[in-house]
Amino acid sequence: MLELNSDVRFLKGIGEKKAQALNKLGVFSLYDLISFFPRKYEDRSVYKPIALCQNGENVCVKALVANVPSLARIRRGMDIVKLKAVDESAMMDITFFNRSYVKNQLSQGESYVFYGKVEVSGKHISMVNPLFEREEGERRITGKIFPVYKLSSGLNQSVVSGGIRQALDNCLEEIPDVLPDTVRQSCRLCQVKYAYENIHFPADFKALEIARRRLIFEELFVLSCALGRIRKNRVDKQGIKFRKFNLEEFYSTLPFSPTNAQRRAVNDAVADMCSGKEMNRLVQGDVGSGKTLVAAALIWFAWKNNLCSAFMAPTEILAAQHFETLSGILAPFGMHIGKLTGSMTAKEKREAKAALKAGQYDLVIGTHALFSSDVEYSNLGLIVTDEQHRFGVSQRSALIGKGKTPHVLVMSATPIPRTLALILYGDLDVSIIDELPPGRQKVGTFAVDESYRQRLNNFILKLTGEGRQVFVVCPMVEENEDLPMNLKSAEEHARELSALFPKLKTACVHGKMKPKDKDAIMASFAAGDIDILVATTVIEVGVDVPNAALMIVENAERFGLSQLHQLRGRVGRGQFKSYCVLVSDSDNEDTQARLKIMCKTNDGFKISEEDLRLRGPGDFFGSRQSGLPETHIADLGADTLVLQQAQNEASLVLDSDPELIFPEHKALRERIDSLFLQNSDSFN
Ligand code: ADP
Ligand code: MG
Repeated sequence: MLELNSDVRFLKGIGEKKAQALNKLGVFSLYDLISFFPRKYEDRSVYKPIALCQNGENVCVKALVANVPSLARIRRGMDIVKLKAVDESAMMDITFFNRSYVKNQLSQGESYVFYGKVEVSGKHISMVNPLFEREEGERRITGKIFPVYKLSSGLNQSVVSGGIRQALDNCLEEIPDVLPDTVRQSCRLCQVKYAYENIHFPADFKALEIARRRLIFEELFVLSCALGRIRKNRVDKQGIKFRKFNLEEFYSTLPFSPTNAQRRAVNDAVADMCSGKEMNRLVQGDVGSGKTLVAAALIWFAWKNNLCSAFMAPTEILAAQHFETLSGILAPFGMHIGKLTGSMTAKEKREAKAALKAGQYDLVIGTHALFSSDVEYSNLGLIVTDEQHRFGVSQRSALIGKGKTPHVLVMSATPIPRTLALILYGDLDVSIIDELPPGRQKVGTFAVDESYRQRLNNFILKLTGEGRQVFVVCPMVEENEDLPMNLKSAEEHARELSALFPKLKTACVHGKMKPKDKDAIMASFAAGDIDILVATTVIEVGVDVPNAALMIVENAERFGLSQLHQLRGRVGRGQFKSYCVLVSDSDNEDTQARLKIMCKTNDGFKISEEDLRLRGPGDFFGSRQSGLPETHIADLGADTLVLQQAQNEASLVLDSDPELIFPEHKALRERIDSLFLQNSDSFN
């Protein structure tokens, strides 16, 4: 007797080997199997007269075999069957490679349905390796919409779809409905049985759409409920209660006055920390909006409360830079500031850890090393993480485990569309810095192709002649990547530039260098000793060199919009008019659209929305960086309307039944629990 939680190996046609192949795809139980949705569909329901077939389309053709199929051996290991097929409209050549057996399956004078990709060249119409079956009799492989699944080796489409057919036939009645009836009805969604049947074996495209809509909604609804519960648990958590101090004492030491947006963000966080509840706040601000200052104010505030802060940066370079900046601001108060990064010597690390344990630091700045298991804090009150999208939620929470319940401030320079922020940072409160410090000039942005190279080189000469510095970014080149010839590798490009400009100092940094060497070069660029810095995207986040006035991005087509925006944010940080030149020879439409947006706007939020629209959320966050469970069917970027609706419904359900103990929420609660189990490292 098969049940939803039976192992897939008990299905007919699926033995040990195939079961293992399914396991590789994350499919273990029959429930997993029916939740393994098709990657796409083949429409084999449309029949066309041969004469109307268009080049490249996949269609079914009903045709008569006009001659005796011929079998020819072209060379060893390669044979070919050829035949002609006709209908009332035209004739078509059909070729099979290495399928000698079809010669006997196809008879002259008989009618068949062929399904395949049509090639039309002039009057010549052909198909290669089509699927086929007799026109008379039951249609098994044509006449319907067919699901296409992701496969792993050892599987083929019919094994997977056959398994799903059996699973559905045995268990359709058992599938729990996680959507409460009221929600299903008010959102006009189909029944769960209908959805699972039609997502795999749609009767037609309308049925498929109805099924898809329900399943997308379901997935986002479950996710929203899960996040809602996390948020609720957090809100109830006690935190260290800070005492109020007048921040003007801090602000008055700065060389400039903080913007209103900076003050607002600081005030939000101060209110959190004085509330007696644990703070979990995200500060979102475009590049250059001055997030570091917000962090500094709060670190000062924690210090006034006799507590220590930890500041976590995503890279060594940034940790070093923040160490400089924050020391400059905070050391004058008499604060003790330490460093702990992976590249320090064992002895240095040992000393830093001892100092932390003894409570000798008021602030420690570092990288992931800050939360390795042997680091102990004596009085940790505040954790700040910079550029959070680089850290998974789990890493953040590992650090939270370090103190009693330290407050957490997350800073992100990746503006995120509101709907997505709710999902991605659903467990955080958000402050937005929507104002740049005064006097910032827009970075002039231009998209050019190779024909501008000479002018671009002259421009480098002109700006460096005025004392400015130049960033040149080349795409990261993975080893054994199949590359077009003209892709610039950073080192090669640096050599070219230094040959071209012998009087200028050119240097190169890339991801494969030792952190120490990288840091040294970055430091000497920041000190103005290097004129042109060629880099891979190691400089992407946060590096602050106010004298840099030109950012050149080579092979700009290789970068996403958000990334380009981050890169552009490296210039225009001082008083000098700055420029960003995006070099690309690509005439790909998407690339052109991306580059155009960059030239048009400097607004990070606008850019992020466009980016999401053009590329979808997967690329947007980098694979799996969000710490969220992967969605099976919903597309967080494209399905934002459904997402909003699901979020509304989820909050209604949670308001009425926060612990999900009502009988109609039982299936929902079980699904959420299993989601937490599967993702325990990303969600905890
Ligand atoms: P980001 O938000 O990208 O981390 P930073 O904190 O690095 O931005 O700040 C960018 C630059 O702006 C720094 O050089 C900083 O000193 C300067 N800055 C920050 N706040 C102000 C302000 N209120 N007025 C003038 N300059 C500021
Ligand atoms: Mg920063």
